[in-house]
Amino acid sequence: MENAKMLIGGELVSAESGTRFAVTAPATGAVLAEVPRAGAIDVNRAVNAAARGFEDWYRLRPAEREAALLRAAELVAREGHARFLDTLIDESGSTISKARGEIAYTVDLLRTAAGEARRLYGETFPNDDPQRISMVFREPLGVVAVVSPYNAPLSLLTKMCAFPLAAGNSLVIKPSEETPLTALAFGQLLLDAGVPPAAVSVVTGYGAECGAELINHPRVRCIALTGSTQTGIAVGQSALGKMRRMQLELGGKSALLVLRDADPRQAAKIAAQGIFTHAGQICMANSRIVVEREIYQPFITALKAEAESLYLGDLRDERTVYGPLINARAVEKVLEHVREAIDGGAELLTGGEQLAGLVVKPTVLLEPPRNSRAWREESFGPVTSVVAADDLDQAIEFANDSEYGLSAAVLTHNLQWGLHAARRIASGAVHVGMHTFQSNALAPIGGVGLSGMGRSGGHYSTEEFTEVKWISADVGSLPR
Ligand code: NAD
Repeated sequence: MENAKMLIGGELVSAESGTRFAVTAPATGAVLAEVPRAGAIDVNRAVNAAARGFEDWYRLRPAEREAALLRAAELVAREGHARFLDTLIDESGSTISKARGEIAYTVDLLRTAAGEARRLYGETFPNDDPQRISMVFREPLGVVAVVSPYNAPLSLLTKMCAFPLAAGNSLVIKPSEETPLTALAFGQLLLDAGVPPAAVSVVTGYGAECGAELINHPRVRCIALTGSTQTGIAVGQSALGKMRRMQLELGGKSALLVLRDADPRQAAKIAAQGIFTHAGQICMANSRIVVEREIYQPFITALKAEAESLYLGDLRDERTVYGPLINARAVEKVLEHVREAIDGGAELLTGGEQLAGLVVKPTVLLEPPRNSRAWREESFGPVTSVVAADDLDQAIEFANDSEYGLSAAVLTHNLQWGLHAARRIASGAVHVGMHTFQSNALAPIGGVGLSGMGRSGGHYSTEEFTEVKWISADVGSLPR
């Protein structure tokens, strides 16, 4: 076990208070490291550094910011496995394939974001006064507080950092207390790639102390949070009280619709991938499945077989589909949701038990009560609920029976039905012919309702992390 330090203004430092907390491996319970438990003084240092770093970074030419992000992408492509693979597996309980996937997506995100550095487009608009011209500039905001979750600690953090950086902002990162080691390695990588040391700091600590200090710091101009809806509401209320810009990517309860023309076996395979990848600890996981009655029976038979065939072994074994949940609280929450649904009348198709350690069996509930937490709330574990619908209209109605709206999907070969459903489902994204868990560095990722506000990815991030400014000038009489 080592004592890690945090990264403030390019220096590796301990917390001013000298306190630390342990980071444990969910798969084994082993302590991987102790990291500084940052408080107000540390956060203040990091934000002040970032305020200075903003000047260094924003004044670089767009091509220089682009080059630094491209160098970061190349570093991840070359050294990503050495720098991140073991940490991702040990710290977040990722399987080796999920960890590799995160590293590959990180390269893609950094390359995509690099291009955005040159695309801070403005505009002009006509003025009735012929002597004046009006221009609109897009400018970075300043210090962005990046508060990130544990489930995809590298790729999500990259998305949250690379686009605001491309636009010229500086960052103070507060990673999840479960996964600070990945974030510290990522912060170091950005500095190695040539981002000025003051422009990126990583403070490690708990949400309610370090996180709260950061989002309330007077010099923070914008808050980018990916996390639970509960945290999003608390952070959003604080941010609004100080008129901060915010971009909130929160929880989901995504519905997968299986229409009557789908092949039940293929649909079950896709549905299982969409919920059981990373043990369902994915915001877009299809934790609700709505099936047209005509194929309900063959579909649930196939889904049961699929769930029961999943290999759950060592995280470094290529065959392992998923590993442990992040901690004992997460296991307890999932099992509570399952128990409550069964008590309310749901049928347990399969699963519902804890295996060794923090691993929960692939679990499928049938027809849970519509007021149960298994149907209404995010379980964030390997559990999904299946309900039958009489027809497409009712399937859409059931999909919309949620306060969340992050992603949805429709399995059908009939594109017309698929697009009809896609237009009517209230969600930030709807995918036809695949499951709900889809990523793309250019796509506008984000949700409606309790799933958050704002979008990230490609130029949508640029819009979130910049402010438009109207500049007008008296230019005298126009040339004839
Ligand atoms: P969480 O809400 O517990 O924590 C997220 C981050 O917020 C952590 O860094 C935490 O320390 C910090 N935090 C907590 N309370 C805070 C406070 N009062 N002030 C400031 N910071 C605070 O979420 P988690 O358990 O780490 O992650 C899982 C959640 O994230 C799930 O709900 C999942 O759906 C969501 N998520 C959403 C997306 C998306 O794109 N919409 C992506 C990934 C994860």
